[in-house]
Amino acid sequence: MGRPSPLLLFLLLVVVLINIDDHCNCALLPLPMHLLRPQTGCHGHKIDGVSCLSWRFAVETNNLRNWKTVPAECEDYVGNYMLGHLYRQDSKAVTDQAILYAKSLNLAGDGKETWVFDVDETVLSNLPYYSQHDFGAKPFDSVAFNAWVETGKAPRLPESHNLYVTLRSLKIKVIFLTGRPESQREVSEANLRRAGYKKWEKLVLRGEKDVGKPAVVYKSEKRRELEKQGYKIVGNIGDQWSDILGSSTGNRTFKLPDPMYYLS
Ligand SMILES: [Mg+2]
Repeated sequence: MGRPSPLLLFLLLVVVLINIDDHCNCALLPLPMHLLRPQTGCHGHKIDGVSCLSWRFAVETNNLRNWKTVPAECEDYVGNYMLGHLYRQDSKAVTDQAILYAKSLNLAGDGKETWVFDVDETVLSNLPYYSQHDFGAKPFDSVAFNAWVETGKAPRLPESHNLYVTLRSLKIKVIFLTGRPESQREVSEANLRRAGYKKWEKLVLRGEKDVGKPAVVYKSEKRRELEKQGYKIVGNIGDQWSDILGSSTGNRTFKLPDPMYYLS
């Protein structure tokens, strides 16, 4: 068998290059400053047995539970996800559905129809803090985090704010239910107002009797109390599964993305 002709080799090279371009068109992705590196090939580094994209999928579907920190090899991946366009796109995909749902409701307008919002990573974003603290790849530092909370400078998550504005226009009452302690009431209220949440029905924080309770227990109890007070929870949104599991969860729940920490 003779040697292949130079023309045939050239054509083979062209075919290979076209296929590579089809499968790894990274240069054309938007926001190259925050290009995701899922470590499954393309521009990311391959690590045997670890795909940060798969890890995040397991987290967001609540198949992976009670994890303490972001895997060290996924810190850059989570950082790029949170700072890039995908976190915002994923959040919008959630709140778009929440807005559609809210607008579809046949509301009684009795002043008792309520939407429950979690606070951290739901209406307020602690990304300025987590971007300086390894995006959750190091153990939680309560002293440093509380110092950040006390600044009252957490920005809003714009997608959740859009939902808030829609609910207000529909005359659905807004209740904030947070794991923050009562001692942070004042700074939390100031932060919410500063972030554009001007009015709400209630801000529920952990009291003395709630200290030490798992979030899913504490939040279930508080929602049950709200129902006993006559509120009808038509919707419920949070970044943790413990915000939307348990009892009295509301007519429909919505889960925002959060690959930085897990609260049970
Ligand atoms: Mg939260």
